[in-house]
Order: sequence, then structure tokens, then C-alpha cells
Amino acid sequence: MEANGSILTNKYSEGLPGARYYGGNEHIDILENLARERALKAFNLDPKVWGVNVQPYSGSTANFAAFTALIQPQDRIMGLGLPDGGHLTHGYYTAKKKITASSIYFQSFPYRVDPSTGIIDYAQLETNANLFKPRLVVCGGSAYPRDWDYARLRKIADGQGAYLLSDMAHISGLVAAGEQSSPFEYCDVVTTTTHKTLRGPRAGLIFFRKDKESDIEARVNAAVFPACQGGPHNNTIAGIAVALKQAADPAFKTYAKQVRANAAAMASVLVKHGYRLQTDGTENHLILWDLRPLGLTGSKVEKICDAAHITLNKNAVAGDTSALVPGGVRVGASALTSRSMVEKDVEVRLDCLFD
Ligand SMILES: *Cc1c(COP(=O)(O)O)cnc(C)c1O
Repeated sequence: MEANGSILTNKYSEGLPGARYYGGNEHIDILENLARERALKAFNLDPKVWGVNVQPYSGSTANFAAFTALIQPQDRIMGLGLPDGGHLTHGYYTAKKKITASSIYFQSFPYRVDPSTGIIDYAQLETNANLFKPRLVVCGGSAYPRDWDYARLRKIADGQGAYLLSDMAHISGLVAAGEQSSPFEYCDVVTTTTHKTLRGPRAGLIFFRKDKESDIEARVNAAVFPACQGGPHNNTIAGIAVALKQAADPAFKTYAKQVRANAAAMASVLVKHGYRLQTDGTENHLILWDLRPLGLTGSKVEKICDAAHITLNKNAVAGDTSALVPGGVRVGASALTSRSMVEKDVEVRLDCLFD
């Protein structure tokens, strides 16, 4: 927050380090290069194979820039459906409306989780990909409690000659800490926000393979600026550099491990008391609590928890038809872990709700 609120707010620097459209950027260049170096280091990436653009203002703009770089307007994309845990920007539309730029400017078709297990139905995705023939397969989600089968997704994308993009926004802190599979081995491009489990300022990153033939590097950089954005927010980039330094510290690994342990503890207390979780548990930082067996909606539980100063949010669970009155809530363990809670704290607090 100190970096984010610093005088770095005041400098324009369109372009990239060493190639700006403004003078007076010698310190900004050092800053942006430092952020780039730290981003590659945080995810163990070889700078000869991977590059990164640290200028996206946020996750949504990072995704739109990445799509702009990889495919043409009206090309076909497949992403995890919003009611199945995907993100709005992965092509979401309804029967009546194209909801985000990702469905307005591209043709999209969602893939789903298996409603009986809550796990992504990779077989159905493969079948539908054979029919729909996407140019881009997007993986990653905002409400998916399980790890991703990147090898399988790569195979499905390769079957169509499609790009594979991972949007690891929710889990990037866990990926940096080695607490979740890394998408980098299998993906062409990886986007992320920097403010979820990565615990940085509100911004986005786009990682790309430095493949000389397809020149994804130049396409991503041109898509961020000037195609989708103007001047980078250098104060935010400074905040990203700080967050990435923290993420490289051994203490961050301990934190990420604890986030997962706390989410698992939350899951096991609820399951012990007979409640239903989507996928029966979690492998990451969040749980999806299916309230339908209780005859409750997520909207009601969110309101009641607000009254008790418990902050969570209503969320669709597999098989839900309405996004306005969804059947579940999404609960994360990151913030309470930052406040030093461990499994015992989670268990005691949850258990006493049921006494
Ligand atoms: C949060 C999120 C985004 C969007 O990030 P904003 O910074 O809110 O624009 C994109 N993708 C996923 C998977 C997310 O969880």
C-alpha cells in the first residue's frame, strides 16, 4: 500500500522499459524491469523461455489483452462456464445477452463440471471441442475447489490446434508457493490477478512463451499497449514488485501451506456436521458450500453471515440455474490465514456454530 500510494502515481510511461513514448523514465524502467524479473522468479520461469507483461490494470483487462493477442475478433473460445466456477471474462453469455466483452467480441461455448461430482467434465469438453473447434481454450476459475489437469487440457487444445491459456487469478499465490500444480509447463499464455492469493495490489500480469515463430511476445505487448490500455500505473507496478518479493520469501510458502490447511479444516468440520460441499472438499484456498439440501439460498446465507460479521459470498453450485439466487456460498481461507489463524482456530470457531 505504501508503494501503491507513492509519487510513482504521477509519471506517464507509455511503452516498455527502454522504449518509451515519454522522457524521464529512467527510474520507472528500473522499477518495471525489477517487477518483471521478480514475476518470472516467483514462478520459477526461465527468462529465455518465458516473458511477462506487468502493465495490465486488472485481471479482466489482462484477459482481454491476452485474447486480443492470441486470436481474431469472432474466433471461437471455450472457458469454464460461470455457474460452474469459471470467470465472467472467459466467454460468459446468457440466453438473452452477451454479458462480457469476451462473448461480445468472440464466439464462446462453455464447458462444465459434472453435476454429480463437481469436477470438470474433461471428456465432455473434449467431445464439444471436437464439434465447436475453438481457437483458444481457457482454463482457470473463480469458484473451483480442485486442482487443474493441465496435461489433459493441453491435449484437448492440441486436438484443435488451439492455444491454451490459464487464468490462474485465484490460485497464483498457491502456484508460486508450489501448493498447486503449475500451469506453465502446458500453457502458451498464463494470466493472473495480483491481489487474490498472491496478496498484492489490484492488477494483472500476462506471462507468455517467447516462441520466435508465433511471436506471442510482441503480440501480447502490443495488445496491452496500445491496443487495450494507455499509460501503465507505475505505482501499482511498484506494489506488484513488493508483493512478488514477499511471495519469494520462505515465509510465503508457509503462509500458502496454511491457507490450504485452513480451507481443508473448514471443509472437514462442515462435512463432519453433515453439510454438503461441492466436490466433497477442497484442494485449494476455498470451499463451495452447497446449501440446497438445507432448502437455503446462497443469497440468504450471505445476508445472515453479514449480520454476524462473517464475510463470504453467494455463489452458484453445480446444476444451479439462477445466478441471482444461487444455491451455495463460496468461502475462502486466505484472509483469516493472513490474520494468523491455524486449523485449530478454524475448527473451534466453526464447531461452536453448531453447539
Ligand atoms: C478475479 C478474477 C478475474 C478478474 O480480475 P479483476 O481484477 O477483478 O478484473 C479474472 N479471472 C479470474 C479467474 C478471476 O478470479
